Amino acid sequence: MAKYLIVTGGVVSSLGKGITAASIGRLLINRGLNIRMLKLDPYLNVDPGTMSPYQHGEVYVTDDGAETDLDLGHYERYTGQPTSQKSNITAGRIYWDVLHKERRGDYLGGTVQMIPHISNEIKFKIRQLEAENPDVIVIELGGTVGDIEGLIFLEALRQLGAEVGRDNSMYIHLTYVPYIRAAGEVKTKPTQQSVAKLREIGILPHVIVCRTEVDLTEEHIDKLAMFCNVPKECVIVEKDVETSIYEIPLVLAEQGVDELILNHFRIARPTRPLKDWQKLISIIKNPQGKVRIGVVGKYSELQDAYKSIYEALYHGGYAAEYEVEIVKFNAEEIETNPEILKTVAGILIPGGFGSRGMEGKIRAAQYARENKIPFLGICLGLQCAVIEFARNVCGLAGANSTEFDEERGVKTEDPVVCLLEEQRAVTQKGGTMRLGACPCVLEKGTKALAAYGEKKISERHRHRYEVNNHYREQLEKNGLIISGINPDIGVVEMIELPDHPWYVATQAHPELKSQPVLPHPLFRDFVAAAIKNSL
Ligand code: GLN
Repeated sequence: MAKYLIVTGGVVSSLGKGITAASIGRLLINRGLNIRMLKLDPYLNVDPGTMSPYQHGEVYVTDDGAETDLDLGHYERYTGQPTSQKSNITAGRIYWDVLHKERRGDYLGGTVQMIPHISNEIKFKIRQLEAENPDVIVIELGGTVGDIEGLIFLEALRQLGAEVGRDNSMYIHLTYVPYIRAAGEVKTKPTQQSVAKLREIGILPHVIVCRTEVDLTEEHIDKLAMFCNVPKECVIVEKDVETSIYEIPLVLAEQGVDELILNHFRIARPTRPLKDWQKLISIIKNPQGKVRIGVVGKYSELQDAYKSIYEALYHGGYAAEYEVEIVKFNAEEIETNPEILKTVAGILIPGGFGSRGMEGKIRAAQYARENKIPFLGICLGLQCAVIEFARNVCGLAGANSTEFDEERGVKTEDPVVCLLEEQRAVTQKGGTMRLGACPCVLEKGTKALAAYGEKKISERHRHRYEVNNHYREQLEKNGLIISGINPDIGVVEMIELPDHPWYVATQAHPELKSQPVLPHPLFRDFVAAAIKNSL
């Protein structure tokens, strides 16, 4: 039977609950356990697919095409265990499904209530993961204890614990222990209160993880243990790390968190050092050098809009034992002043929707091509590279993606990027999103094949538009290399340029599969080319 490890958060948000849960996942995998991770989001959106990057950061896509919360990205980066549609459950989805069942008459006219109908639906969706036979299911509840929205989830998690029994369920509560500068004191009261709030609902946490800026003394720990009703060794200190959030698995391992969990679940597994993570942290702390990479995007001021891209770039640096410094450019600025790209050794154009900044991104692709600066285009980045090449090398001045001309109500003169339906001359519009894992076959002698080291690959997608096959011959005649093709639907997946140190673009989102201890090959080779360019 699967064991349930339930991670809740208290006091304030933004404590890094996702990273703590993911790090615990890593520790369990390291002890030889088969785990699954799951995020419960108490907001009413049905899924995060249409949520604004301003509020919500990037949309993370799984192999099976689910558009999910970016915490799933942390899970995969830390654990290497792929997530799926089943790994992200929102309140919106729960209510939606319950209301549909009600309309269908599934409840036979009975009164439909928060308890048991909503709580049962939450438990049902959580327990679906048991079919995959994991040893442990790690559940992270979004939000903070005390939120109205989260209440029914806490109730469901309490019931779940009662259903599966004490040996099969464990609650970990992440809280904040502030340091009050004016008083020169560390305060444990918010933690006491948030644990009291949990107890009110009937959940007694077994472990308290304290996020803090300063070291905690024996005295603080004794106090926390006493008020929170846990043994001293179950008070874990997660102090701010100096260099990288990838240190967290080591911080938790040092305090024996995996041992506590295994003991609670009565599972015996030999201890094992986290060798690859120790090596990673020593690289992060002592890099051989630093390389500046420019990211030309629309949301350059936001931390999380390109989360996986930034992480994958750092990972690429780790492979070369280098620190990557990310320089965020606002695409609209590049349009009039591409010369500001002079300061970086590599240029990346991330994915995106909508025409804002598009011309600046196309200008950046041109700048990288003409000045032989290593370039990586991701999804929209590939489309920019193709449009740029069509305009400036093939001489098709009116080349564009129909996505952008349509917004302006103009008919595209040379639709080098368009919807698949448009290529097939079907009038129906809209175009469905190509979502999730798609296969790709790589051409011999390409940089793409050199990076991946195998011909058949699979990457995740999230886009509607494709390179127009009617222009393929013309693009190739002028020197563009089509380095990857989708064998199922015959569309362009990857392109690159000859006579250039490294200019590669992909229609997919490879950043979603990069791990710090297993950097993605495209990011690894891109950063390596940028380092070479900077020397
Ligand atoms: N807007 C483009 C499309 O839909 C690119 C999407 C993306 O970069 N994810 O095809």
